[in-house]
Amino acid sequence: MLKYVTFGVKVQLNVHDLNNEAVAGNVTDIRIMDFLDENGEKREAPAVSGRMLKHWHYEAMRHLILNGGYSSLPLCNGCRMGEPIRPGDVRSETLVQIARPEGNSVSVCTICDIHGYLIAQGAQQEGERGASARRTSRAMFSWLMPVLGTDFSSKQVVHTRVSQQQAMAEGEGAAQMIFNKSYASGIYAFVSALDVERIGLVELNLGTNKPYAIEDSDRKQRAKVAIEAYRYLISGQMGASLSHAIPHTQPIEILAAYSETSPLPFPISPIYNDYIKEYKGLVPNNTSILLWNQTDEKVEGVTMKSTINEVFAEILDKLASEEK
Ligand SMILES: [Zn+2]
Repeated sequence: MLKYVTFGVKVQLNVHDLNNEAVAGNVTDIRIMDFLDENGEKREAPAVSGRMLKHWHYEAMRHLILNGGYSSLPLCNGCRMGEPIRPGDVRSETLVQIARPEGNSVSVCTICDIHGYLIAQGAQQEGERGASARRTSRAMFSWLMPVLGTDFSSKQVVHTRVSQQQAMAEGEGAAQMIFNKSYASGIYAFVSALDVERIGLVELNLGTNKPYAIEDSDRKQRAKVAIEAYRYLISGQMGASLSHAIPHTQPIEILAAYSETSPLPFPISPIYNDYIKEYKGLVPNNTSILLWNQTDEKVEGVTMKSTINEVFAEILDKLASEEK
C-alpha cells in the first residue's frame, strides 16, 4: 500500500487576496514576508502561511466528506461544523473540546486523525484511560511563496459597502462604508507531504498490539479524501474571499512523488530553479516521481503525465492496490 506522498506545486495566481491575515481597522492588508533570493539577497513579497494552506486543505476534505461521496467517513462535531475546536462535541448545546484517548479520537473523526490536534487544559475529559493531549498532523504544508526570479505585485483598492439599515436611517449617501483591500498577483509555489502510513495510527498505544484504530479499508478511504483535497488547493480554491475574489489560477507545474516502502524527504521547493533534478538526487530508491507541466517539456528520469488528473490517478491507483 501507498506509504507516503509529497507534492511540489507551482501556480500562477492573479488578483488574489488569499493572505488577508493582517487586519487593521478598515484596512485589510496583505501579508508580506521576507525571504532570500538565489543570490542570498533579501526580498519581500506577498505570501500565504502554511496554516492557511492547511486550513483550506481541511475545508476541502470537510466539503468532500459532507457533500462529495465520502459520507461513510466520520467527523467529530467540531470538524463537521468547520470550527477549529478539535476534537469537538456538543455538550449542553455548546461545542466544546473533548479530551479522550487518542484511539477514540482517531476512530470518531477523519480530520482529527489526519490533521491532528492540540488539546488545551480545561477540555472536557472523557474516558477512563489517560487522554493524549496532542496528535501530530499527517498533512504538512509550507508557506505559499513567490517563485524566485519572477515578478510579483500587490495593489490596494477601495471598495464601498452599502449598509441597508443605515441607508434607511440616514438617507442615500450616508450609508456607504469605504474600505481598502489589497490584492496580489504572482507565480507561487508550495510543498506538502502526506504521511499516509500514519493515518489511523495511534501513537500512544497503551497495551494493545493493534497499531491502528481503524480498519485498512477505512484508512484507504481517509487517505483518498486527503489526496483528493489537494486538487482544490491546486485550483486556487482557498482564501476567505471566494464569493468575490476567486483567484485567476493557472497551474504551471505539479510534481508528485510517492513511495510504497518508506517515508520520503520533503520536496525541494519549486521556488528554486533546479528543484526537480535536486529532488531526484535526494529521494531513496523505490520512489516514483510524477510530473505534469503546462509546457509539456520533458524532464529526464521522472514519469511525465499529460494531465494533472493522470498524476492523481496513478497515486490513487497505488493507494487502492492490495499489494503490500
Ligand atoms: Zn474532528
